[in-house]
Amino acid sequence: MAGVTIANADKFYGNFHALKQVSAEITDGEFVILVGPSGCGKSTLLRMIAGLEEISDGDIKIGGRVVNDLPAKERDIAMVFQNYALYPHMTVEKNMAFSLRLKKVPQDEIDRRVAHASEILGLNALLDRYPRQLSGGQRQRVAMGRAIVRDPAVSLFDEPLSNLDAKLRVQMRSEIKALHQRLKTTTIYVTHDQVEAMTMGDRIVIMHDGVVEQFGTPLELYDKPANIFVAGFIGSPAMNILSGTVENRNGTNEFRSGIGSIWPLPQNANVKPGQAISYGIRPEQISLEDDGIELIVDVVEPTGADTLVHGRCGDEQLTVYFRQRVDLKPGQTVSVTIDSNAVHLFDNLTGARLS
Ligand code: ATP
Repeated sequence: MAGVTIANADKFYGNFHALKQVSAEITDGEFVILVGPSGCGKSTLLRMIAGLEEISDGDIKIGGRVVNDLPAKERDIAMVFQNYALYPHMTVEKNMAFSLRLKKVPQDEIDRRVAHASEILGLNALLDRYPRQLSGGQRQRVAMGRAIVRDPAVSLFDEPLSNLDAKLRVQMRSEIKALHQRLKTTTIYVTHDQVEAMTMGDRIVIMHDGVVEQFGTPLELYDKPANIFVAGFIGSPAMNILSGTVENRNGTNEFRSGIGSIWPLPQNANVKPGQAISYGIRPEQISLEDDGIELIVDVVEPTGADTLVHGRCGDEQLTVYFRQRVDLKPGQTVSVTIDSNAVHLFDNLTGARLS
């Protein structure tokens, strides 16, 4: 097992700067997620760690050793791909044993490792089947089995669940997490799905346009997003972000949104009257209470246990999430209040967190 250090890594594809001074210190045994929108560079970074893509500048270390120029097969990593990359003409058992055979591992050792992996992945009854005779979830397990038998220093996953249906994805999510808790192999896992990132990772690297926007635990990213991008990306439904200025009214600083509605600021907010800021409030931190801000209901989405409401305060769109059933109708006007200490403030120009 080993930690992975990425130090000021750059990647150029011709003139295109795909990764810009990316740094992250992943400790031994950690489960780290690389997440971000399409094209942010997460697969490029994973492939550079794997040795499938050259690093243009900076260093990548595995277990303290710089691996920039080390071929993929000498890095002691295993990679699980989105399309599973199983050998169609080999049985499940042979697929799992293949890399060990190549390495000339003794047969009894191969048998022991394949038996161990198929036991923990529930593949015992499928060992003689061919990939075409398996469901998507079973193929995914075989792909993981191939990684497990190698007992690598680092496991890399590239969007491994994206070909599965929603229900199976949720199931495999917890299986992969449980597997990591059991084996404790350092794992780096790429996804564009923020829910997958939040639920699976010990820590999350959130990327955007080739830059690391924040690296932290799921709750750090949720509670203290470093900037507007992270605030909008992490959390579902997404945070409401209003744009406006700080205004002093009767000795108290308040937030006036672009169209003029007035919102409370957190105590000790580090802002000055006249300052242009963005004001973020999570949908679940808005509640129905008298004498609050008027919200005109546009759309109501009940899920059974809870209710999502999209509405307007003036021209400002607002999403509200109630952890209960609420009986609201489109067109209705209700009064909502927010917990001012749960508000997130960002600089309007740089997008950086203010408090
Ligand atoms: P997705 O979620 O869509 O897979 P990603 O975050 O994994 O996206 P990458 O595949 O790492 O993104 O690509 C990052 C950027 O680098 C993109 O703008 C992409 O177009 C560009 N890129 C990737 N591979 C190459 C290549 N071989 N040549 C030129 N540009 C490339």
